[in-house]
Amino acid sequence: MKAHDGMYIDGAWRPAAGRDTIAVVNPVDEQVIAEVPAGTVEDVDAAVRAARAALPAWAATAPAERAARIAALRDVLVARKDEIAESVTAELGAPLPFSQAVHAGVPILVAGSYAELAASYAFEEKVGNSTVYAEPVGVVGAITPWNYPLHQIVAKVAPALAAGCTVVLKPAEDTPLTAQLFAEAVHEAGVPAGVFNLVTGLGPVAGQALAEHEGVDLVSFTGSTAVGRRIGATAGAAVKRVALELGGKSANVILPSADLAKAVAVGVANVMGNSGQTCSAWTRMLVHTSQYDEAVALAAEAAAKYGDRIGPLVNAKQHARVRGYIEQGVAQGARLVAGGLEAPREQGYFVSPTVFADVTPEMTIAQEEIFGPVVSLIRYEDEDDALRIANGTVYGLAGAVWAGDEAEAVAFARRMDTGQVDINGGRFNPLAPFGGYKQSGVGRELGSHGLAEYLQTKSLQF
Ligand code: NAD
Repeated sequence: MKAHDGMYIDGAWRPAAGRDTIAVVNPVDEQVIAEVPAGTVEDVDAAVRAARAALPAWAATAPAERAARIAALRDVLVARKDEIAESVTAELGAPLPFSQAVHAGVPILVAGSYAELAASYAFEEKVGNSTVYAEPVGVVGAITPWNYPLHQIVAKVAPALAAGCTVVLKPAEDTPLTAQLFAEAVHEAGVPAGVFNLVTGLGPVAGQALAEHEGVDLVSFTGSTAVGRRIGATAGAAVKRVALELGGKSANVILPSADLAKAVAVGVANVMGNSGQTCSAWTRMLVHTSQYDEAVALAAEAAAKYGDRIGPLVNAKQHARVRGYIEQGVAQGARLVAGGLEAPREQGYFVSPTVFADVTPEMTIAQEEIFGPVVSLIRYEDEDDALRIANGTVYGLAGAVWAGDEAEAVAFARRMDTGQVDINGGRFNPLAPFGGYKQSGVGRELGSHGLAEYLQTKSLQF
């Protein structure tokens, strides 16, 4: 794969300050496909300086012009859609059709939504005898994970640019090639030099330097709760803004009146997509005791149909981690009804689509984020019991409710401690705020709520 050997800083690819590199591995065949520079404190500092220097002019650019640049960026992403999908497939391992539809397709939708929002958002409003201005927060340090490599970048960079902020991006070490493609797209779209900057590198080195840099006004982080907690503490000590999109352990609640077969099939598909590496995946399926055995049979059948059609996990570490959870599930008494430790292929970081039955709410596999193709079926006695189980983890990112009557599902969803709930298989909406309750995070991404994260308010009284 094509890779840049420098950093994108101040509108150009510049040599990295150090000589260390990061090997990019294709998780399907475990071969090194490229090397990218491992950024240092110096690289991060150069990028933050460039972003600071570019801030006054970009913040003063009319929203319509910022909207035009984001629309141009969207158009470049459309033109380079195939290349993006191939890059995600090469470094994440996702099957090409999934990369085309989701990994390349969703960022186009999101970029488009911010081109429109930048043009239409009320950056100024009258409140009594005051005028209230929504002004950019400043320089944004964006730190992203590998699971949706381009979506996570666009969900931060597009609203930041719409708000008038400038950005330094530190993408995940497993998926830097897609981030480099994005930097090329920003350049092609005519975004002024210094407004967007890219530093590839390791989390504890480049990521930490970015989170700690005093020239950064807002840190927007997506990733694990462990790292998010540290970044939140660092930002708190410096009294700077922080947005955290962290882990999840979402519940798929199937009420007795629901279309069981549909709810189970969509529920299993939701977890298997992206090989289970989706923070908002509904990894706990909650089924009424009267329908439990039928749901188990349906889920096992649905998972078995996938065979080896799902992609691998991203790297050897995640592969070992997910297998460790499967071992723990068995050891704690859950019943394997599909998949398990037997790998579908000899080479690559593959895990079989796995379904556990007889999972109890306190088991490790029902509490901790596995981040692999593993669904746990949990039995409940009545609605209050289902709610207790659904709300009984430290997380609160997403969820699903299925019922014969939409109002019944909505009533249940309103009692869930979670940031978003899909009702009877509701569709993805790029304008709906995305983010977590409890330890799933702080702040929201997407739509106007996502834009507001990058704004601060000033009021003038007359
Ligand atoms: P991670 O926390 O290890 O890494 C995320 C990013 O943080 C990477 O760019 C990494 O280099 C960087 N990083 C690592 N250590 C750092 C440090 N000390 N200082 C600064 N930056 C550092 O997570 P991951 O393994 O890449 O991603 C998987 C996790 O992300 C899962 O737990 C998943 O739930 C979560 N996630 C959450 C969302 C969401 O929107 N809520 C979305 C995707 C992924």
